Amino acid sequence: MRSLSFKLIISFLVVSLVGTLLVAVLAGQATADEFGQFVFDRDLESLASQAGEYYQIHGHWGGADEVRWQGTRSMMPGGMNQGSGRGMGPGGMMAIADVNGVVVLSGAGHRVGEKLAPVEIAQGKAIESEGEFVGTVYVRPISFRPSLAEEAFLARVNRILLLATVIATGVALVLGVLIARALTQPLRELTVATRAVAAGDLAQQVAVRSQDELGELAHSFNQMSADLVRARDTRRQMTADIAHELRTPLSIILGHAEALHDGVLPPTQETFYIIHDEAQRLNRQIEDLRTLTLADAGELSLTRRLSAPGAMLERAAAAHAPHAAQKGISLELDVAPDLPEIDVDPDRMAQVISNLLDNALRYTPSGQRVRLSALKGEKTVRLVIQDSGPGIAAEQLGRIFDRFYRADKSRQRDEGGSGLGLAIAKSLVLRHQGQIWAESQPGQGSAFIVELPAAGG
Ligand code: ADP
Repeated sequence: MRSLSFKLIISFLVVSLVGTLLVAVLAGQATADEFGQFVFDRDLESLASQAGEYYQIHGHWGGADEVRWQGTRSMMPGGMNQGSGRGMGPGGMMAIADVNGVVVLSGAGHRVGEKLAPVEIAQGKAIESEGEFVGTVYVRPISFRPSLAEEAFLARVNRILLLATVIATGVALVLGVLIARALTQPLRELTVATRAVAAGDLAQQVAVRSQDELGELAHSFNQMSADLVRARDTRRQMTADIAHELRTPLSIILGHAEALHDGVLPPTQETFYIIHDEAQRLNRQIEDLRTLTLADAGELSLTRRLSAPGAMLERAAAAHAPHAAQKGISLELDVAPDLPEIDVDPDRMAQVISNLLDNALRYTPSGQRVRLSALKGEKTVRLVIQDSGPGIAAEQLGRIFDRFYRADKSRQRDEGGSGLGLAIAKSLVLRHQGQIWAESQPGQGSAFIVELPAAGG
């Protein structure tokens, strides 16, 4: 496999070679043509001037075919060494016509007495004698036959063109190598970095050197690499958290079972109650994890139905009423009139509200209140669960939706929270194209707001 640099260099070389060769050939051809025309014009001029002198001396054209006209060499089909102006006849190179265009010196395909065509007179050169127009010299244009000196001149021109081609190719080669190296440098870096990622070293970043497609590629690679690192760290953290979370109830169950087995603990109702309670917590955590994993993978199926937000809050309040009463907390309901319906999976949404309400009841002290409100937003419906708990510090507001995050680790685990309630709520709300966030001032309670698109909005 040839490298990209090699292919680029070859491409540059081929393009420059074709370009310079084309220029050289065209320039060579054009030079030869132009030079031929120049010599032809010069000789025609010279013939006209010789003819003018001849006429000036003789006053007529008689005997002109005896003259050795200088300058017809370059006009000879056979080149400089053949023919001369003498005795040309109709097969000769030049013809002279008088003032009326009648041929007086035969040549260029014309006999004496014939008339030159107007176009031939136009192509010919006017002969003047003492400022008077006395005739026309006409030479039929033929291909240029250079003299030895002229041939040498053209050969010199061709040599220079060839040299220019060689130099241009050399320069193209050097530039091609430099440009190809510069162009492929980011690709080489990317290849090294990609191999490192494939080998498991995910934290790779390459330099973004340009704003073009290669720069974009480097930028995307850096982004991908950073995402991979983040995903790996999250997975590691998750695995550690899950192991940690499951170990707590499991070790309690094991400890009690062993104590029972060894006769250290009496098999009382309370012991079995503790074991049952911890097993239930374990079950709940595993179920929460399953829900979260499915929601994250987008595999949690939603059975959407048009639902009235007010009725959903009422059902949640009714379900938690005994718990609230038990804690001496008053549950208040505040549903705005004319609320639009929302297109949601009622069971999943009930789970979201239940998770939020569970927390609100958990953190609200006895004798206080928890308020459930449904408000109308712009093309949305907002469900707000406002408690009278301790509130949440600003620096924790952004983190409480993370899985296994607990503001106060020891206390809340004892109170039965899995640390997954808000993560599940967020995941479910996002699956409904909604948003969820918390607003809180420490000491003044917290409000959890779920905003969902209004149906038909
Ligand atoms: P947990 O099962 O521990 O309650 P969550 O995901 O439901 O897990 O909540 C994460 C953390 O957010 C809680 O440990 C607590 O620190 C904080 N939190 C949640 N709801 C409230 C609330 N209503 N008042 C104060 N803090 C709260």
